[in-house]
Amino acid sequence: MSGPSRALGVLRVRGGRVIDPANGTEAVRDVVAVDGKIVDGAELAHAPNDQVIDARGRLVVPGLIDAHVHLREPGRPDKEDIASGTRAAARGGFTSVVAMPNTSPPADSASAIAWMRQRAEERAVVNVFLTGCISQGQKGELLAPMASLKRAGVVAVTDDGQCVQNAELMRRAFEYAGMIGLPILDHCQDFNLSAGGAMNEGYWSTLLGLPGWPAIAEEIMISRDALLAEFTAHHVHCQHVTTAGGVRIIREAKQRGVRISGEATPHHLALTDAAIQDFDANFKMNPPLRTARDIEALVEGLEDGTLEILATDHAPHCSYEKEVEFEAAPFGIVGLETAVGVWFQTLYHHHKLPLPKIVRKLTINPAKMLGLADKGHLGPGADADITLIDPDMEWVVDRARFASKSHNTPWHGAHLKGRAVTTIVGGRVVWDLASDG
Ligand SMILES: [Zn+2]
Repeated sequence: MSGPSRALGVLRVRGGRVIDPANGTEAVRDVVAVDGKIVDGAELAHAPNDQVIDARGRLVVPGLIDAHVHLREPGRPDKEDIASGTRAAARGGFTSVVAMPNTSPPADSASAIAWMRQRAEERAVVNVFLTGCISQGQKGELLAPMASLKRAGVVAVTDDGQCVQNAELMRRAFEYAGMIGLPILDHCQDFNLSAGGAMNEGYWSTLLGLPGWPAIAEEIMISRDALLAEFTAHHVHCQHVTTAGGVRIIREAKQRGVRISGEATPHHLALTDAAIQDFDANFKMNPPLRTARDIEALVEGLEDGTLEILATDHAPHCSYEKEVEFEAAPFGIVGLETAVGVWFQTLYHHHKLPLPKIVRKLTINPAKMLGLADKGHLGPGADADITLIDPDMEWVVDRARFASKSHNTPWHGAHLKGRAVTTIVGGRVVWDLASDG
């Protein structure tokens, strides 16, 4: 589905450094689109009424896809809605977002999905792809009607925010999802092992006297999912992997040929549990911030391909909810408008990951996992979703300028290096830094 209507005519993105990992491209050249689709520009003569975007000095990459976003609609329009969430996405360089189904009510029926599709068509400024619940009401008791969810248009199923605890039910979920070809995305958390946890269990939780959410609570579910994926020969994608053990389990499963993948968020790559010393709830997320050793393992996992996807877990909350005692605050932070800066600063400038490797995890990898054939690459016939990035731009995060309705970010006032500067969806510019109000 796509929000904006197709722009007619020719769009030339001129003179940028094109990085299109799916097609093995890394070269300075033009990208040309006609009527919202990429064409082979070499064959097309320049005409005076072409729309031209000067991309010299910029990276030109396939439109970024965020596979993990909470839009909060329906249910909590005070936190976010489809209009504000997709404006935030555009402002962060994302041309597609994948909405999690833990809305209120949860998206566990074809009618809920139909309503959201309609809403996205009317209000979204970037592409919105929908997911449905694994279990009815995300209660972990009965399976949601996956076949009708698929017919209604979901690209995957997940109980994100929750995690199916019953391994028998999860086995059925893998089997049904496998039969109809829907990937399973899982928020891996054992609720008994993590019960009451507010932060990573370790040195800092002991020192601060806060209840711990231990690494093993995540790793035991990643292990279970790896075994179920192997047993059912179906794909599972582990959302927001945060621990060294989790990376190792996924790596070892992949080596056995198990169909498993993992994702990393900006915050779990850039911040550790030491940040919680000031009891600021903008550092409270689920799973929690871990340790420097875990970050090292996540970066190794991104480097060697164990973790295939970068996603934000954009989780808006109101200020009044976050500005309470640490233990009482809800989990999660907004991420769409800071993610490119944090990833480029952390992965490109600090850890020196090659640009195509970073871009791949934001474009073709999520597109492939979710079966989005016309997304994630810039080959002829692809949708003209394009993001321009200045990898060296230094900027200061100001949450007052966010398009998101929520301001719960740990990066307010932070200096970041790397920023999306132009976002193009279906051949039409939906956001440009130069005219950012
Ligand atoms: Zn989650």
